Amino acid sequence: MTQRIAVLGATGSIGDSTLAILAEHLQDYEVYALSGHQRLDKLLKLCQQFKPKRVAVPTEAVDDFAKRLKQAGLTAEVVGGTQGLIDVATDSQVDTVVAAIVGAAGLPSTLAAARAGKRILLANKEALVMAGQVMIKAVKTHHATLLPIDSEHNAIFQCLPATIQQDNTQIHDDSHGVRKLWLTASGGPFLQQSFAQMQQAGVAEAVKHPNWSMGQKISVDSATMMNKGLELIEACHLFDLPESKINVVIHPQSIIHSMVEYSDGSFLAQLGSPDMKTPIAHALSYPQRIASGSQPLDLYTLSGLEFIKPDLQKFACLRLARQAMQAGTQATIILNAANEIAVEAFLQGKVRLTDIASINEQALSEVKASKLSADADIDDILAIDSLARHYTESLVRQML
Ligand code: NDP
Ligand code: MG
Repeated sequence: MTQRIAVLGATGSIGDSTLAILAEHLQDYEVYALSGHQRLDKLLKLCQQFKPKRVAVPTEAVDDFAKRLKQAGLTAEVVGGTQGLIDVATDSQVDTVVAAIVGAAGLPSTLAAARAGKRILLANKEALVMAGQVMIKAVKTHHATLLPIDSEHNAIFQCLPATIQQDNTQIHDDSHGVRKLWLTASGGPFLQQSFAQMQQAGVAEAVKHPNWSMGQKISVDSATMMNKGLELIEACHLFDLPESKINVVIHPQSIIHSMVEYSDGSFLAQLGSPDMKTPIAHALSYPQRIASGSQPLDLYTLSGLEFIKPDLQKFACLRLARQAMQAGTQATIILNAANEIAVEAFLQGKVRLTDIASINEQALSEVKASKLSADADIDDILAIDSLARHYTESLVRQML
């Protein structure tokens, strides 16, 4: 049966990879809905190519975009703003939601998809960093399915026993013999450079990732290794493990996408070219497999795979992520919000790359939020998020 897909964040890098796969498999998948935010010319072209039934854009762009669709002879319904994204994510016609909006903006629609019992292909790691417990609870209560497409988490998913895969990836206890998870990290563009060199880095250098092609925010996060910090928190929620059971190892070649260590000494790894089309295709077709269009690995040309312990002084964001995870959800919300503001300030040339970690650290110690109770909901989360954003914005202003 055809799977109907809503691609939220269709105009981004994950959106590109997802739609490239779907374009090759239109007999099995229908592109039912798309969303975009600023790149609306690109969204229009995607509408011409895929002819979705519904399109979500910012509220102020609804009328104009509807007019442009009409002029192009298209009939898609246009919805606006966060509510529009939620409507699309919960549409009864939609089977699968690809959650590929960047940052906190992706949380409401991702959570709504979970509450509507959808199959969710999760790229938007910030949703779990901010609202891990709420998300996982919603997935379980409403019988949704959460399939990670972040390459590391997808790799771990693939290396876990089928019983865990089918139990919404929750490891719970030691009965499956899982001793540790190993998240691999490329180390980003500054792995071989000193802290002083990193301090001088401009935006172009920071977003030039050695192995992966990604959106701007996650590229900066990779340069500071905040991305690995966010992924550590994502993994704790996704796999129901404490941070102490998740190790990070730098593997500059980005061939092994992560590993599961078992109590008998086995390490299971997933390997592949650094191309997001592989984990996306895996999640789209799970438990079957489809062609992704990625280049197969040529093992004969791989000269060596390295593994390095991360330097937590140079990459302080990784240390902060562990610290926040130990402190509780209120801290991971603060860290995520501060980081979004700090990254934006760096992209606008207001602060240095290395200031991001200091800003995040200061926000973590200065923003006061009490521990969230077990029945906390999205409003409680967004209240802390907003507090942390205001604090960080004023901190950045003081630094100018
Ligand atoms: P991009 O910046 O390339 O794309 C982001 C998408 O989100 C775009 O479609 C953008 O719309 C949309 N968007 C941005 N702000 C808003 C908003 N306020 N409201 C609604 N939509 C918005 O990012 P990526 O594709 O790289 O990343 C997307 C997510 O996937 C992130 O959470 C990232 O961490 C995660 N991820 C990405 C990987 C990658 O390889 N790229 C790997 C693993 C995870 P528009 O472009 O039209 O403005
Ligand atoms: Mg990743």
